[in-house]
Amino acid sequence: MRLITSVRLWVALLAMLGMALGGLLYLANSRPDIQPHTHATLTTASKASVRSLFLGTSTLVWTDGKTTWLVDGFLSRQPLWNVAFTPLDVDEALVDATLQHALDQLNMPHRVAGIVVAHSHYDHAMDAPYIAKRYGGQVHGSESTWQIALGQDLPPTQMEVVHNAGVARLGDFEVKIRQTRHAPTGFTGGLNHQPLRLPAHALRFKEGLSYSFVVHHKSQGDEPIALVQPSAGFLPGENRDLKVPVVFLGVGGLGRLGQDYIESYWQEMVTQTGARRVYLIHWDDFTKPVFSQGQPAPLVPMPALMDDMSAALPVLQGLALRDGVQLEVHQAWETITFN
Ligand SMILES: [Zn+2]
Repeated sequence: MRLITSVRLWVALLAMLGMALGGLLYLANSRPDIQPHTHATLTTASKASVRSLFLGTSTLVWTDGKTTWLVDGFLSRQPLWNVAFTPLDVDEALVDATLQHALDQLNMPHRVAGIVVAHSHYDHAMDAPYIAKRYGGQVHGSESTWQIALGQDLPPTQMEVVHNAGVARLGDFEVKIRQTRHAPTGFTGGLNHQPLRLPAHALRFKEGLSYSFVVHHKSQGDEPIALVQPSAGFLPGENRDLKVPVVFLGVGGLGRLGQDYIESYWQEMVTQTGARRVYLIHWDDFTKPVFSQGQPAPLVPMPALMDDMSAALPVLQGLALRDGVQLEVHQAWETITFN
């Protein structure tokens, strides 16, 4: 009798565990339906125009036909299982294939003048030293990013350590590097104190300082052409003196931060700067490649379990409507033209 009861108990427990796992799997794969927008400024641009090309997270490739530089350059985008359970390394073949396709699409040689790194989490900083070694240019980032570069044996001449603020001069581009805040998530904070040798688990990449980037180009005079805000954080008043027509707005984590937070963030980044066009970035599931089987691959949103974009997007759309701002969910491989 006792045996039958305990067998039943085990069967019931296993059934419950199965249902719980099934539920988790469902949630892990359930994604908000985000429609690609239709207003993309796809490449009709001449080779000399100032352009940016988006490759997921906050990775942007910028060029003016003479000089090419990147924000972050994170392209390894390891599968979720590897991120959770294994130490990570640069996926050199995937980084090469993706970056070379992007440079070909921009009609530019396979050369990079510099990489500005938003902060030192793996989904921003991990691939930058490899790209600098292979394609040239300096990495501009915090001391924590410097530790990641040291771990990959990037020569010191190819590293420009930024402290609270800095400027990257890249041909006719000038990128002002300004301190900002990371989105308040469970991963925020911490410094890398020692060279970070690969392979290393994702959690070993500490944030360091977080930066935003104000992009200028000589052809456009003194006024900046865009603000790139990679992470959905802000220092109150940080953009008090900034006017900019275009914002690349990081939204990672916003789905969990509530309406009041989203409104304050929008106020600081968009209302305050008077921007007329906003491209949402860092909304995508960065455990899926942006280039697969020799082809560009579309981005998909984060699973709702991790970051519910379907909660954040209507709030952002309401604010854009209120302020008369054109809001786009930036799709991978889209090119924005600035002149
Ligand atoms: Zn981060």
